[in-house]
Amino acid sequence: MKLSPIDVYRDILPKTNCRDCGELTCLAFAVKVVSENFPLSKCPHISKDSIEKYEKILKEQHSKGIFAKKDPAKEALIWAKQRAASTDLMDLPQRIGGVIVDYNGQRALKLPYFNSYVYITENGIFSELGELEHYEQVFLYNHIAQGGKKDPTGKFVPFHELPNTVSKIKSLEKHIKRPLENTFKRKVQELKTRALNIGALDLSSDYPTADLALLFKPLPKVPVLLLFWDEEKGEEEMPAQVNILFDETIIDHLDIESILFLLEKLVNLLTSE
Ligand code: SF4
Repeated sequence: MKLSPIDVYRDILPKTNCRDCGELTCLAFAVKVVSENFPLSKCPHISKDSIEKYEKILKEQHSKGIFAKKDPAKEALIWAKQRAASTDLMDLPQRIGGVIVDYNGQRALKLPYFNSYVYITENGIFSELGELEHYEQVFLYNHIAQGGKKDPTGKFVPFHELPNTVSKIKSLEKHIKRPLENTFKRKVQELKTRALNIGALDLSSDYPTADLALLFKPLPKVPVLLLFWDEEKGEEEMPAQVNILFDETIIDHLDIESILFLLEKLVNLLTSE
C-alpha cells in the first residue's frame, strides 16, 4: 500500500484547515507528511490508532524514497563523487593545495577551507567543524575532479565574463547578492567583522571606490573578491550593492554550478547567527 499526499488528505486528515499543525491547510500538511517525513502526529485531530497504522506505511515508503522530495544536492553529490573517484590523492597537493596527512589511520589530504580544514580521504570528506552539507561536498568533489593545476593570477573577473554563465546570472543575483545586500545594508562594520572571522583579508585600500573590499580564500587556489557599496540616502538614493569577482583561473578548478554552491556556503557563513 502506498500513500500519496491526496490519499493522506482524503482518507486520514479531518480537512478542517484549522492550522493547529502550523500549516495553512490540511493539504499542505499532507504534502509535508508524504514528501518530507513530517510526523502525522503533528495533527492533533487524528486518532492514536490511525497514527499508528499509517505512520508505519509512511515510514517504510519514505525509506524507499517513494514520493520523497528530491534533494538536488544529494543527486549532484552522487555524480560529483563518481567524477572524482579515479583521482589519485597524491596528485592533489600539487593541483589544488593542501598536504597529505594521517587522518584517523587513513591517508588524507588536509585542505584549507575558509578558516578551517577539510580532510579528503578515499572514504569521504570530513570537516573539523562537523558534518559537511551535501552541496558543500558537491563543490569539493568537483574541485578534486576538475583537474585544474593553474595557480591564481590575481586578475579578477566578474561572473558574467566566465563561460556559460548566462542562465545562472539570475540565480547569482537572487541567492547570493540580494541576501548579502539585504543583510548588511547599513552594517558595513558587521560585514567586515564576520568576513575577517572566516579568514577574509580587508583589501579596501586597494579598491577605494567600494565601501568594503574583502578577499576570501575558501580554497587555496580559489580566491573570491567581494566588493560592497552601502546604501545611500538623500538626493542620490542608491540601494546597497554587492559585486563578486573571481580569479580568471577559477574555471580550471570549479564548474559553474559548483561556483554557485561555493558562494552559497560563503553567504551561509556570513549571514548565519
Ligand atoms: S491540524 Fe490537522 S486538521 Fe488542522 S490543518 Fe493541520 S492537518 Fe488539518
